[in-house]
Amino acid sequence: DIKLSSRVQRIKPSPTLAVSALAAQLRAEGRDVIGLGAGEPDFNTPDHIKEAGITAIREGKTKYTAVDGTPGLKQAIIDKFQRDNGHSFQPDQILVSCGGKQSFFNLCQALLNEGDEVIIPAPYWVSYPDMVLLADGKPVIVSADQSQGFKMTAQQLEAAITPRTRLVVINSPSNPTGVAYSREELAALGEVLLRHPNVVVATDDMYEHMMFRDVPFCNILMACPDLYDQTIVLNGVSKAYAMTGWRIGYAGGPKPLIAAMKKIQSQSTSNPTSIAQEAAQVALNSDQSCVAEMCKAFQDRHDYLVEALNAIPGVECLPSDGTFYSFPSVKGAMEKLGMDSDVKFAEHLLDQVGVALVPGSAFGAEGHVRISFATSLDNLKQAVERIGRAVGA
Ligand code: PLP
Repeated sequence: DIKLSSRVQRIKPSPTLAVSALAAQLRAEGRDVIGLGAGEPDFNTPDHIKEAGITAIREGKTKYTAVDGTPGLKQAIIDKFQRDNGHSFQPDQILVSCGGKQSFFNLCQALLNEGDEVIIPAPYWVSYPDMVLLADGKPVIVSADQSQGFKMTAQQLEAAITPRTRLVVINSPSNPTGVAYSREELAALGEVLLRHPNVVVATDDMYEHMMFRDVPFCNILMACPDLYDQTIVLNGVSKAYAMTGWRIGYAGGPKPLIAAMKKIQSQSTSNPTSIAQEAAQVALNSDQSCVAEMCKAFQDRHDYLVEALNAIPGVECLPSDGTFYSFPSVKGAMEKLGMDSDVKFAEHLLDQVGVALVPGSAFGAEGHVRISFATSLDNLKQAVERIGRAVGA
Protein backbone atom coordinates (compact mmCIF):
# COMPACT_ATOMS: atom_id res chain seq x y z
CA ASP A 1 0.00 0.00 0.00
CA ILE A 2 1.14 3.51 -0.76
CA LYS A 3 1.24 5.57 2.41
CA LEU A 4 -0.15 9.04 1.82
CA SER A 5 0.67 12.22 3.69
CA SER A 6 -1.30 13.24 6.75
CA ARG A 7 -1.77 16.54 4.93
CA VAL A 8 -3.82 15.07 2.12
CA GLN A 9 -5.81 12.92 4.52
CA ARG A 10 -6.87 16.05 6.38
CA ILE A 11 -8.93 17.36 3.46
CA LYS A 12 -11.84 16.27 1.28
CA PRO A 13 -12.46 16.66 -2.44
CA SER A 14 -14.52 19.71 -3.40
CA PRO A 15 -18.19 18.74 -2.79
CA THR A 16 -19.50 21.25 -5.30
CA LEU A 17 -17.45 19.77 -8.10
CA ALA A 18 -18.64 16.32 -6.97
CA VAL A 19 -22.30 17.26 -7.37
CA SER A 20 -21.71 18.55 -10.89
CA ALA A 21 -19.85 15.35 -11.75
CA LEU A 22 -22.65 13.15 -10.37
CA ALA A 23 -25.30 15.09 -12.29
CA ALA A 24 -23.27 14.74 -15.48
CA GLN A 25 -22.87 11.02 -14.89
CA LEU A 26 -26.60 10.47 -14.34
CA ARG A 27 -27.33 12.48 -17.47
CA ALA A 28 -24.90 10.32 -19.43
CA GLU A 29 -26.85 7.30 -18.18
CA GLY A 30 -29.96 8.80 -19.76
CA ARG A 31 -31.58 10.26 -16.64
CA ASP A 32 -33.37 13.59 -16.86
CA VAL A 33 -31.41 15.74 -14.41
CA ILE A 34 -31.61 19.50 -13.87
CA GLY A 35 -28.27 20.68 -12.54
CA LEU A 36 -28.45 23.48 -10.02
CA GLY A 37 -25.00 22.81 -8.65
CA ALA A 38 -22.97 24.86 -11.08
CA GLY A 39 -20.48 27.32 -9.68
CA GLU A 40 -20.02 29.06 -12.99
CA PRO A 41 -22.01 31.35 -15.28
CA ASP A 42 -23.94 29.51 -17.99
CA PHE A 43 -22.87 32.17 -20.50
CA ASN A 44 -20.09 31.94 -23.00
CA THR A 45 -16.92 33.97 -22.59
CA PRO A 46 -17.70 37.18 -24.57
CA ASP A 47 -16.36 37.15 -28.14
CA HIS A 48 -13.96 40.07 -27.81
CA ILE A 49 -12.24 38.25 -24.94
CA LYS A 50 -12.05 34.97 -26.86
CA GLU A 51 -10.57 36.85 -29.82
CA ALA A 52 -7.86 38.24 -27.56
CA GLY A 53 -6.88 34.69 -26.63
CA ILE A 54 -6.81 33.61 -30.27
CA THR A 55 -4.74 36.64 -31.22
CA ALA A 56 -2.32 35.88 -28.40
CA ILE A 57 -1.73 32.39 -29.82
CA ARG A 58 -1.27 33.75 -33.35
CA GLU A 59 1.19 36.36 -32.13
CA GLY A 60 3.26 33.74 -30.36
CA LYS A 61 2.47 34.84 -26.83
CA THR A 62 2.82 31.23 -25.85
CA LYS A 63 5.92 31.25 -23.65
CA TYR A 64 6.66 31.64 -19.96
CA THR A 65 5.75 35.05 -18.62
CA ALA A 66 6.91 36.69 -15.40
CA VAL A 67 5.82 34.48 -12.49
CA ASP A 68 3.56 37.20 -11.08
CA GLY A 69 1.92 38.07 -14.40
CA THR A 70 2.66 40.10 -17.54
CA PRO A 71 3.28 43.83 -17.04
CA GLY A 72 0.26 44.55 -19.25
CA LEU A 73 -2.17 42.47 -17.19
CA LYS A 74 -0.77 43.76 -13.91
CA GLN A 75 -1.31 47.32 -15.09
CA ALA A 76 -4.89 46.43 -16.11
CA ILE A 77 -5.43 45.06 -12.59
CA ILE A 78 -3.91 48.16 -10.97
CA ASP A 79 -6.24 50.31 -13.10
CA LYS A 80 -9.23 48.13 -12.20
CA PHE A 81 -8.53 48.42 -8.47
CA GLN A 82 -8.24 52.20 -8.79
CA ARG A 83 -11.34 52.57 -10.98
CA ASP A 84 -13.73 50.24 -9.17
CA ASN A 85 -12.46 50.26 -5.60
CA GLY A 86 -10.28 53.33 -5.13
CA HIS A 87 -7.37 51.09 -4.07
CA SER A 88 -3.85 52.25 -5.03
CA PHE A 89 -1.37 49.45 -5.64
CA GLN A 90 2.13 49.39 -7.14
CA PRO A 91 3.14 46.57 -9.53
CA ASP A 92 4.99 44.74 -6.72
CA GLN A 93 1.74 44.62 -4.77
CA ILE A 94 -0.04 42.55 -7.45
CA LEU A 95 0.12 38.78 -8.06
CA VAL A 96 -1.71 37.05 -10.89
CA SER A 97 -2.46 33.36 -10.26
CA CYS A 98 -4.16 30.34 -11.83
CA GLY A 99 -7.65 31.28 -10.66
CA GLY A 100 -8.89 32.81 -7.46
CA LYS A 101 -8.39 29.41 -5.90
CA GLN A 102 -4.64 29.59 -6.27
CA SER A 103 -4.58 33.15 -4.92
CA PHE A 104 -6.10 31.96 -1.66
CA PHE A 105 -3.93 28.84 -1.63
CA ASN A 106 -0.78 30.96 -1.99
CA LEU A 107 -2.00 33.26 0.76
CA CYS A 108 -2.43 30.38 3.23
CA GLN A 109 0.93 28.88 2.33
CA ALA A 110 2.68 32.22 2.70
CA LEU A 111 1.03 33.28 5.94
CA LEU A 112 0.30 30.29 8.16
CA ASN A 113 2.38 28.25 10.55
CA GLU A 114 1.17 25.07 12.21
CA GLY A 115 -1.81 25.81 14.44
CA ASP A 116 -2.30 29.38 13.28
CA GLU A 117 -5.95 30.29 13.33
CA VAL A 118 -8.02 31.54 10.42
CA ILE A 119 -11.46 32.98 11.15
CA ILE A 120 -13.99 31.86 8.56
CA PRO A 121 -17.63 32.93 8.88
CA ALA A 122 -20.10 30.15 7.99
CA PRO A 123 -21.73 29.66 5.54
CA TYR A 124 -18.39 29.75 3.72
CA TRP A 125 -17.01 28.91 0.30
CA VAL A 126 -16.13 25.22 0.56
CA SER A 127 -12.45 25.61 -0.23
CA TYR A 128 -11.40 28.00 2.54
CA PRO A 129 -11.21 25.51 5.44
CA ASP A 130 -9.49 22.84 3.37
CA MET A 131 -6.86 25.21 2.03
CA VAL A 132 -6.20 26.39 5.59
CA LEU A 133 -5.80 22.75 6.66
CA LEU A 134 -3.41 22.09 3.78
CA ALA A 135 -1.24 24.89 5.14
CA ASP A 136 -1.28 23.30 8.65
CA GLY A 137 -3.54 26.11 9.89
CA LYS A 138 -6.65 25.81 12.00
CA PRO A 139 -10.01 26.97 10.61
CA VAL A 140 -12.05 28.77 13.27
CA ILE A 141 -15.62 28.71 12.05
CA VAL A 142 -17.90 31.53 13.21
CA SER A 143 -21.52 30.66 12.66
CA ALA A 144 -23.55 33.40 10.97
CA ASP A 145 -26.91 31.80 10.36
CA GLN A 146 -30.00 32.90 8.48
CA SER A 147 -31.44 34.70 11.53
CA GLN A 148 -28.53 37.16 11.36
CA GLY A 149 -28.68 37.47 7.59
CA PHE A 150 -25.68 35.11 7.13
CA LYS A 151 -23.32 37.89 8.26
CA MET A 152 -20.73 37.79 11.03
CA THR A 153 -21.14 40.62 13.56
CA ALA A 154 -18.31 42.73 14.95
CA GLN A 155 -18.95 41.17 18.38
CA GLN A 156 -18.57 37.66 16.96
CA LEU A 157 -15.35 38.65 15.24
CA GLU A 158 -13.91 40.20 18.39
CA ALA A 159 -14.80 37.11 20.42
CA ALA A 160 -13.16 34.77 17.89
CA ILE A 161 -9.80 36.57 17.79
CA THR A 162 -7.04 34.98 19.88
CA PRO A 163 -3.27 35.50 19.99
CA ARG A 164 -3.03 32.72 17.36
CA THR A 165 -5.32 34.45 14.84
CA ARG A 166 -3.46 35.27 11.63
CA LEU A 167 -6.20 35.71 9.06
CA VAL A 168 -9.89 36.58 8.71
CA VAL A 169 -11.75 35.81 5.50
CA ILE A 170 -14.62 37.92 4.22
CA ASN A 171 -16.45 36.96 1.05
CA SER A 172 -19.09 39.49 0.03
CA PRO A 173 -21.31 38.99 -1.84
CA SER A 174 -21.01 35.45 -0.66
CA ASN A 175 -20.86 32.05 -2.22
CA PRO A 176 -23.12 30.30 -1.11
CA THR A 177 -25.58 32.81 0.41
CA GLY A 178 -25.57 35.62 -2.15
CA VAL A 179 -25.66 38.08 0.74
CA ALA A 180 -23.40 41.15 0.84
CA TYR A 181 -22.23 43.11 3.88
CA SER A 182 -23.22 46.79 3.97
CA ARG A 183 -20.59 49.51 4.23
CA GLU A 184 -21.60 50.08 7.87
CA GLU A 185 -21.27 46.40 8.75
CA LEU A 186 -17.84 46.27 7.13
CA ALA A 187 -16.77 49.42 8.94
CA ALA A 188 -17.75 47.80 12.25
CA LEU A 189 -15.69 44.69 11.43
CA GLY A 190 -12.86 46.97 10.32
CA GLU A 191 -12.85 48.77 13.64
CA VAL A 192 -12.24 45.46 15.40
CA LEU A 193 -9.44 44.53 13.01
CA LEU A 194 -7.69 47.87 13.44
CA ARG A 195 -7.27 46.96 17.09
CA HIS A 196 -5.51 43.76 15.97
CA PRO A 197 -2.89 44.94 13.48
CA ASN A 198 -1.23 41.49 13.37
CA VAL A 199 -4.37 39.96 11.88
CA VAL A 200 -4.54 39.99 8.09
CA VAL A 201 -7.95 40.29 6.45
CA ALA A 202 -8.61 38.71 3.07
CA THR A 203 -11.53 40.18 1.18
CA ASP A 204 -12.63 37.76 -1.54
CA ASP A 205 -14.37 39.99 -4.09
CA MET A 206 -14.88 37.30 -6.71
CA TYR A 207 -18.55 38.24 -7.16
CA GLU A 208 -18.03 42.01 -7.06
CA HIS A 209 -19.70 42.60 -10.41
CA MET A 210 -22.54 40.18 -9.85
CA MET A 211 -24.51 42.60 -7.64
CA PHE A 212 -28.10 43.35 -8.46
CA ARG A 213 -29.53 45.41 -5.62
CA ASP A 214 -29.42 49.17 -5.39
CA VAL A 215 -26.50 49.09 -2.96
CA PRO A 216 -23.15 49.56 -4.70
CA PHE A 217 -20.38 47.06 -4.10
CA CYS A 218 -18.19 47.70 -1.06
CA ASN A 219 -15.33 45.71 0.48
CA ILE A 220 -13.77 46.12 3.90
CA LEU A 221 -10.83 48.17 2.61
CA MET A 222 -13.22 50.58 0.87
CA ALA A 223 -15.21 50.85 4.11
CA CYS A 224 -12.10 51.19 6.25
CA PRO A 225 -9.08 52.50 4.27
CA ASP A 226 -6.91 52.48 7.42
CA LEU A 227 -6.75 48.69 7.04
CA TYR A 228 -4.51 49.09 3.98
CA ASP A 229 -1.41 47.53 5.58
CA GLN A 230 -3.29 44.44 6.78
CA THR A 231 -5.67 43.73 3.88
CA ILE A 232 -5.27 41.52 0.86
CA VAL A 233 -7.87 41.95 -1.88
CA LEU A 234 -8.66 38.81 -3.90
CA ASN A 235 -10.52 38.92 -7.17
CA GLY A 236 -10.49 37.33 -10.61
CA VAL A 237 -12.07 37.17 -14.02
CA SER A 238 -13.74 33.76 -13.65
CA LYS A 239 -17.25 34.83 -12.67
CA ALA A 240 -17.52 38.41 -13.94
CA TYR A 241 -16.53 37.53 -17.52
CA ALA A 242 -17.65 33.88 -17.64
CA MET A 243 -13.99 32.84 -17.82
CA THR A 244 -13.88 29.96 -15.32
CA GLY A 245 -11.86 27.73 -17.62
CA TRP A 246 -9.18 30.30 -18.35
CA ARG A 247 -7.90 30.18 -14.76
CA ILE A 248 -6.96 33.76 -13.94
CA GLY A 249 -7.29 35.19 -10.44
CA TYR A 250 -5.39 38.05 -8.85
CA ALA A 251 -4.46 39.56 -5.52
CA GLY A 252 -3.49 43.05 -4.39
CA GLY A 253 -1.98 43.69 -0.99
CA PRO A 254 1.02 44.44 1.22
CA LYS A 255 4.32 44.10 -0.62
CA PRO A 256 6.02 41.52 1.67
CA LEU A 257 2.95 39.28 1.63
CA ILE A 258 2.61 39.45 -2.16
CA ALA A 259 6.35 38.72 -2.51
CA ALA A 260 5.99 35.63 -0.30
CA MET A 261 2.97 34.42 -2.27
CA LYS A 262 4.90 34.95 -5.49
CA LYS A 263 7.75 32.85 -4.14
CA ILE A 264 5.33 30.00 -3.38
CA GLN A 265 3.88 30.28 -6.88
CA SER A 266 7.37 30.34 -8.43
CA GLN A 267 7.98 26.89 -6.94
CA SER A 268 4.60 25.43 -7.85
CA THR A 269 2.84 26.53 -11.04
CA SER A 270 4.99 29.48 -12.18
CA ASN A 271 3.02 31.94 -14.28
CA PRO A 272 -0.64 31.43 -15.12
CA THR A 273 -1.22 30.58 -18.79
CA SER A 274 0.20 33.28 -21.06
CA ILE A 275 -2.76 33.15 -23.44
CA ALA A 276 -5.31 33.48 -20.65
CA GLN A 277 -3.43 36.48 -19.27
CA GLU A 278 -3.74 38.27 -22.63
CA ALA A 279 -7.49 37.57 -22.66
CA ALA A 280 -7.90 38.70 -19.04
CA GLN A 281 -6.12 41.97 -19.84
CA VAL A 282 -8.63 42.67 -22.60
CA ALA A 283 -11.52 41.66 -20.32
CA LEU A 284 -10.45 44.20 -17.68
CA ASN A 285 -9.55 47.00 -20.09
CA SER A 286 -12.46 46.92 -22.52
CA ASP A 287 -16.08 48.01 -22.34
CA GLN A 288 -17.81 46.37 -19.36
CA SER A 289 -21.33 46.11 -20.79
CA CYS A 290 -21.04 42.30 -21.16
CA VAL A 291 -20.83 42.10 -17.37
CA ALA A 292 -23.99 44.14 -16.86
CA GLU A 293 -25.88 41.99 -19.37
CA MET A 294 -25.05 38.77 -17.56
CA CYS A 295 -25.85 40.36 -14.25
CA LYS A 296 -29.27 41.45 -15.44
CA ALA A 297 -30.07 37.88 -16.46
CA PHE A 298 -29.03 36.65 -13.01
CA GLN A 299 -31.23 39.25 -11.37
CA ASP A 300 -34.31 38.21 -13.36
CA ARG A 301 -33.77 34.58 -12.46
CA HIS A 302 -33.11 35.45 -8.83
CA ASP A 303 -36.31 37.44 -8.52
CA TYR A 304 -38.33 34.57 -9.91
CA LEU A 305 -36.54 31.90 -7.89
CA VAL A 306 -36.68 33.46 -4.43
CA GLU A 307 -40.39 34.10 -4.67
CA ALA A 308 -41.11 30.64 -6.05
CA LEU A 309 -39.01 28.93 -3.37
CA ASN A 310 -40.69 30.83 -0.57
CA ALA A 311 -44.04 29.58 -1.88
CA ILE A 312 -42.99 25.99 -1.15
CA PRO A 313 -43.99 24.96 2.38
CA GLY A 314 -40.95 24.16 4.51
CA VAL A 315 -38.60 26.27 2.39
CA GLU A 316 -37.42 29.71 3.52
CA CYS A 317 -35.20 31.78 1.29
CA LEU A 318 -33.56 35.13 1.96
CA PRO A 319 -33.15 37.33 -1.10
CA SER A 320 -29.59 37.58 -2.41
CA ASP A 321 -27.76 40.86 -2.96
CA GLY A 322 -25.67 39.36 -5.75
CA THR A 323 -23.89 36.25 -7.13
CA PHE A 324 -25.90 33.53 -8.83
CA TYR A 325 -26.77 31.56 -5.71
CA SER A 326 -29.67 31.25 -3.31
CA PHE A 327 -29.26 29.47 -0.02
CA PRO A 328 -32.71 28.56 1.30
CA SER A 329 -33.34 26.84 4.59
CA VAL A 330 -35.09 23.52 3.92
CA LYS A 331 -35.39 22.57 7.58
CA GLY A 332 -39.19 22.54 7.46
CA ALA A 333 -39.22 20.32 4.37
CA MET A 334 -36.64 17.97 5.88
CA GLU A 335 -38.72 17.63 9.02
CA LYS A 336 -41.81 16.85 7.00
CA LEU A 337 -39.91 14.11 5.16
CA GLY A 338 -38.44 12.80 8.40
CA MET A 339 -34.89 13.56 7.33
CA ASP A 340 -32.16 14.60 9.72
CA SER A 341 -29.50 15.66 7.21
CA ASP A 342 -29.37 17.95 4.23
CA VAL A 343 -27.15 15.44 2.44
CA LYS A 344 -30.04 12.95 2.54
CA PHE A 345 -32.38 15.69 1.40
CA ALA A 346 -30.18 16.49 -1.59
CA GLU A 347 -29.91 12.79 -2.43
CA HIS A 348 -33.69 12.51 -2.22
CA LEU A 349 -34.12 15.37 -4.69
CA LEU A 350 -31.64 13.87 -7.12
CA ASP A 351 -33.05 10.40 -6.83
CA GLN A 352 -36.78 11.18 -6.82
CA VAL A 353 -37.12 14.16 -9.14
CA GLY A 354 -33.75 14.61 -10.84
CA VAL A 355 -32.71 17.90 -9.31
CA ALA A 356 -29.02 18.27 -8.44
CA LEU A 357 -28.01 20.82 -5.83
CA VAL A 358 -25.41 21.09 -3.09
CA PRO A 359 -26.31 20.40 0.57
CA GLY A 360 -25.68 23.31 2.93
CA SER A 361 -23.48 21.26 5.25
CA ALA A 362 -20.78 21.44 2.55
CA PHE A 363 -20.69 25.17 3.31
CA GLY A 364 -20.85 24.78 7.07
CA ALA A 365 -24.62 25.36 7.34
CA GLU A 366 -26.69 22.24 7.97
CA GLY A 367 -30.37 22.42 6.94
CA HIS A 368 -29.86 24.49 3.80
CA VAL A 369 -29.24 23.81 0.13
CA ARG A 370 -27.36 25.94 -2.34
CA ILE A 371 -29.22 26.56 -5.57
CA SER A 372 -27.24 27.98 -8.44
CA PHE A 373 -29.30 30.00 -10.88
CA ALA A 374 -26.59 29.92 -13.50
CA THR A 375 -29.08 28.07 -15.69
CA SER A 376 -32.04 29.06 -17.83
CA LEU A 377 -35.28 30.42 -16.39
CA ASP A 378 -37.07 27.44 -17.97
CA ASN A 379 -34.83 25.04 -16.10
CA LEU A 380 -35.41 26.94 -12.87
CA LYS A 381 -39.17 26.82 -13.29
CA GLN A 382 -39.08 23.09 -13.88
CA ALA A 383 -36.74 22.59 -10.96
CA VAL A 384 -39.00 24.52 -8.59
CA GLU A 385 -41.98 22.46 -9.70
CA ARG A 386 -39.99 19.27 -9.08
CA ILE A 387 -38.72 20.38 -5.68
CA GLY A 388 -42.29 21.20 -4.68
CA ARG A 389 -43.33 17.71 -5.77
CA ALA A 390 -40.44 16.05 -3.89
CA VAL A 391 -41.38 17.71 -0.63
CA GLY A 392 -45.03 16.82 -1.12
CA ALA A 393 -46.28 20.36 -1.65
N1 PLP B 1 -13.79 32.64 -4.29
C1 PLP B 1 -15.08 32.29 -4.28
C2 PLP B 1 -15.96 32.84 -3.22
C3 PLP B 1 -15.57 31.40 -5.23
O1 PLP B 1 -16.86 31.04 -5.21
C4 PLP B 1 -14.70 30.88 -6.20
C5 PLP B 1 -15.16 29.89 -7.19
O2 PLP B 1 -16.10 29.18 -7.01
C6 PLP B 1 -13.36 31.28 -6.17
C7 PLP B 1 -12.94 32.16 -5.20
C8 PLP B 1 -12.33 30.75 -7.11
O3 PLP B 1 -12.53 31.05 -8.42
P1 PLP B 1 -11.57 30.53 -9.56
O4 PLP B 1 -12.42 29.71 -10.46
O5 PLP B 1 -11.05 31.77 -10.21
O6 PLP B 1 -10.47 29.73 -8.95
